[in-house]
Amino acid sequence: MDEIESTAPEKIRDRLKPIQDGTFRFACHPGVSCFTECCRDLNLMLTPYDVLRLSRHLNLSTTEFLDRYTDVVVAEGSPLPAVCLMMQENDRRTCPFVSPAGCRVYSDRPSACRTYPLARASRKHRVHGTVLESYYLVVEDHCRGFDEPRTWSVEEWIADQGLEEYHRMNNDWMDLVTHPAVRQGLTEKQIPMYYMASYDLDRFRAFVFESRFRHMFDAGKMDVERAREDDSALYELALAWLKFFLLGEGPLRPKDRP
Ligand code: SF4
Ligand code: SF4
Repeated sequence: MDEIESTAPEKIRDRLKPIQDGTFRFACHPGVSCFTECCRDLNLMLTPYDVLRLSRHLNLSTTEFLDRYTDVVVAEGSPLPAVCLMMQENDRRTCPFVSPAGCRVYSDRPSACRTYPLARASRKHRVHGTVLESYYLVVEDHCRGFDEPRTWSVEEWIADQGLEEYHRMNNDWMDLVTHPAVRQGLTEKQIPMYYMASYDLDRFRAFVFESRFRHMFDAGKMDVERAREDDSALYELALAWLKFFLLGEGPLRPKDRP
């Protein structure tokens, strides 16, 4: 069985279909009868990069965003806490960002919203480091997008939805969370640090610059100071910290103490 079929949530496993000839028919626009019907009653997992983009879109710190809009869950088959977008407490359990005109955070919408109607399985080859990926269609009965005439290749869809950047940012984190040593589970001490350095990057920034972190670690060629202002540098540093803290690997090294 392919990896996605064994790790996809039970809820969608029977809706995954192979993509015939590498192309699929689909379009989503305000003219479809089901417009925004998919933006409700979701178990929408967020990646750390999703949290970063959404929090910046809303002018919130990651801490405020996580408090206001997310739940912490332990996903099926995973030993790790994950962050899930909290649906609103109404009859339809609508997404907090949906409006009659569509998605209010469209330019920074999460990876999962960009990827639909596809599902992506990926893993990094542990010897030569290339990312292996495969795609399936997620065929939801209520979605009329499949009746539209527009045809896409997977590559065209990825480009159209701005997914290259999301994949680039998500791949290293996915590689970390699927590492066999991490899948065995974390200790009580590791879990809060894992959560902070994965999802709550503003708190991680304070941890780096308001503690003895820079005196204790040599970051090699990484420019730690850049992470003060630059979110991409902060994200990279957080991943390096997680690799060191959870696996004892990566560019961070403890400094020799006198
Ligand atoms: S259900 Fe499908 S076609 Fe309808 S709004 Fe959602 S993605 Fe678009
Ligand atoms: S974030 Fe936007 S696209 Fe995603 S479920 Fe919410 S309203 Fe829909």
